[in-house]
Amino acid sequence: MAKVKSARVSPAARPVSSARPANPFETALEQFDRAADLLGLDPGMREVLRRPKRQLIVSVPTKMDDGSIRVFEGYRVQHNIARGPAKGGIRYHPQVTLDEVKALASWMTWKCAVVNIPFGGGKGGVICDPKRMSQDELERMTRRFTSEISIIIGHDRDIPAPDVYTNPQVMAWMMDTISMTKGYSTLGVVTGKPIAVGGSAGRNEATARGCVATIVEACRKRGIDPKHASAAVQGFGNAGSICARLLWEMGLKVIAVSDTGGGIYNAAGLPIDQVIAAKEKTGSVRGFAGKAEKIAGDAVLEVAADVLVPAALEGVLTAENAPRVKAKIIAEAANGPTTPEADDLFHKKGILVVPDILANAGGVTVSYFEWVQDLYAFFWDTDFVYEHLQKTMERGFREVFGAAQQWKTTMRTGAMTLAVGRVAEATRIRGLFP
Ligand code: NAD
Repeated sequence: MAKVKSARVSPAARPVSSARPANPFETALEQFDRAADLLGLDPGMREVLRRPKRQLIVSVPTKMDDGSIRVFEGYRVQHNIARGPAKGGIRYHPQVTLDEVKALASWMTWKCAVVNIPFGGGKGGVICDPKRMSQDELERMTRRFTSEISIIIGHDRDIPAPDVYTNPQVMAWMMDTISMTKGYSTLGVVTGKPIAVGGSAGRNEATARGCVATIVEACRKRGIDPKHASAAVQGFGNAGSICARLLWEMGLKVIAVSDTGGGIYNAAGLPIDQVIAAKEKTGSVRGFAGKAEKIAGDAVLEVAADVLVPAALEGVLTAENAPRVKAKIIAEAANGPTTPEADDLFHKKGILVVPDILANAGGVTVSYFEWVQDLYAFFWDTDFVYEHLQKTMERGFREVFGAAQQWKTTMRTGAMTLAVGRVAEATRIRGLFP
């Protein structure tokens, strides 16, 4: 059982364990506790907000192409719905765990509150290796998984979206599976869909575009001219590759990128359009045949770039490698890439960390726009979406920066105080908490 902490402990006085947290949910709770300490949150409210509201574990029997049956394990967690329906992606990955999904669901609660959109937090995942599955196998598994979690998802209660190794096609299968049982098209049940079936203009680039907006704001605060800055990006999927491209298009030198195949580096800058083409053709950035040195995937985190964008998985910046990180700004496109110990080291080193719950909130922001468009059956053009995304991200950055100054703390804890304060207020007003 989660321990109730005393109401007010100075974050500086809180002992931080030197070992890497055993799992992302511990990281999430540590981040929550730091904000709760500052806010002097009531112990009862802490207990409410620390715990996921619902956790569903499902078995997903799937017929494979060779006729055999495999049973995958899947999860859907709703962390909090005080401010609106749960919202959050579905991850397909061999290392998915329930604790990882709980952490990601809680980060969604705080993220939606930080950018002030009317959603709570949810997340889902299936333990599988989509790289070793055919499209037909993926479709059958997705449809069965959707059917299993259909008892808790819906446009008015919990709205999934893509995450690692899921994409608009997977969302289309999910939407279709729910629609089949209803007998009509339920567009608003998932977001991140293809445009042809109720997707939003601009959703594909939303996470990266939002992240870049926060990088520009962070550069301003640090007196860095983005046009003369350099960047490194770890992870080259939806968030990472588009972020790298947008930074490169803005004139930043992107000097290192990586994916599961490893990293590439060129101090003079990489032509990101060609790296994207190489990744499409060969499956990895390592397939880039132009001028670049091959480096280990993890080494990308330590190159001498002004801006570091972790855009892969959680727990990659730790007490072990944090001392070697040279960036002046870290913008967390990924969820949970930094452990609390690494966070403390970055703070001491004066590195400005734009936390995940702000840096990658562009994705859920445009998911919110998609949901609104689906419910209204009235669709916006790309410029309108980007204009509102930009405003949301700039306001988010301003408010988080202000909260960090007000509490004399990091951007992460500033963001968390803002988010936890908003969710606690909603919980209190609704009367879910006496
Ligand atoms: P994706 O599946 O499109 O891409 C993941 C990428 O990470 C791939 O290029 C993969 O090769 C790479 N990768 C995995 N392990 C790696 C490692 N150890 N080193 C280097 N690269 C590695 O996933 P995505 O949607 O881009 O998500 C990436 C991160 O961004 C996740 O943390 C996700 O939760 C977060 N995020 C995504 C969105 C979104 O809209 N897609 C929104 C918010 C947050």
